[in-house]
Amino acid sequence: MNILVTGGAGFIGSHLCERLVASGHRVVCLDNFHSFYDPQIKRTNLAGIIDHPDFRLVEGDVRDINDLDKCFSEHEIGLIVHLAAMAGVRPSILEPELYAEVNIMGTHKVLLACQQHGVKRLVSASSSSVYGSKQGGAFRENDDLGKPESPYAETKRAGEVLAQLWQRELGISVVCLRFFTVYGPRQRPDLAIHKFASLLYGGKPLPVFGDGSTCRDYTYIDDTIDGVMGAVEYVQTHSGYAVFNLGEARPVQLLDMIYELEAASGRQAALQWHPLQPGDVPYTCADLTRSRAELNYDPKWTFREGLRSFIRWFEDTRQT
Ligand code: NAD
Repeated sequence: MNILVTGGAGFIGSHLCERLVASGHRVVCLDNFHSFYDPQIKRTNLAGIIDHPDFRLVEGDVRDINDLDKCFSEHEIGLIVHLAAMAGVRPSILEPELYAEVNIMGTHKVLLACQQHGVKRLVSASSSSVYGSKQGGAFRENDDLGKPESPYAETKRAGEVLAQLWQRELGISVVCLRFFTVYGPRQRPDLAIHKFASLLYGGKPLPVFGDGSTCRDYTYIDDTIDGVMGAVEYVQTHSGYAVFNLGEARPVQLLDMIYELEAASGRQAALQWHPLQPGDVPYTCADLTRSRAELNYDPKWTFREGLRSFIRWFEDTRQT
């Protein structure tokens, strides 16, 4: 099948494009190489696939319907995986309008493209941040959502609402996936594990926000991609609208993450303590009952193994 992946040059998107092509699909990737982080990193993300006959790159913006139309000009697209977004919680506080434009209007335009080009299946990236600030316990997809803690969280929630609305309107099949802090090779440089590794190897102290007890349900990229592939199958066999968590159900405290990073790298970290930052949530943990049952999702990576895999990639690719 021909699949359009928006944001396909990014961290999650590039891994997904590779997996889809390896599974026999033809992939059209739409990405605008936004400078939120170095666009060259995104070109490197695609280096292993750019010349593959079943892969095509369209450089363009999801907010621009003409750019979206280009993706449909050569191939009949049967399914869209919409990952393009302005990601990152803290930067969204500084640029809320940009986040709203890309994440809300961008999703709107993708749904419009579904209507105009008769695409009946959509998988769309949401985030654990839609759950807001919760303490303890695992987050279930049908929980009441708390107060969004950042413009980013707000836009991700709006994306889900739009997708649900259009699903009914168009009678298509839509899955929204709530990713829980994804890490591994090619992780975005702004995310904590990658940022900390850069500081650690640069001999600089690591900023710790709060008392180190905040917890994240870190998800290894291969597990995330398994889950997205499950969703790609699911939208082909189910109608309606569904939301799934993709996490590991294994929250890791910030200080334990630093300890594992030290162990994996063989380096000792100096810590610099700061107050909690606006937008941060204290805790995330996915309940996986639904995604295990419906997507056959079965995450396999321990945090220790995943971190070691990340560090191997980091050491291999780091510019000294
Ligand atoms: P990323 O920034 O690496 O990838 C996003 C890609 O989208 C980038 O390549 C970027 O250039 C592209 N993009 C941005 N604006 C665009 C636009 N207007 N038009 C076309 N392309 C555009 O981020 P990622 O970590 O791979 O995240 C992918 C998706 O998963 C996002 O929707 C993000 O909100 C969501 N998500 C990620 C995480 C995580 O831990 N990485 C957690 C929760 C949700």
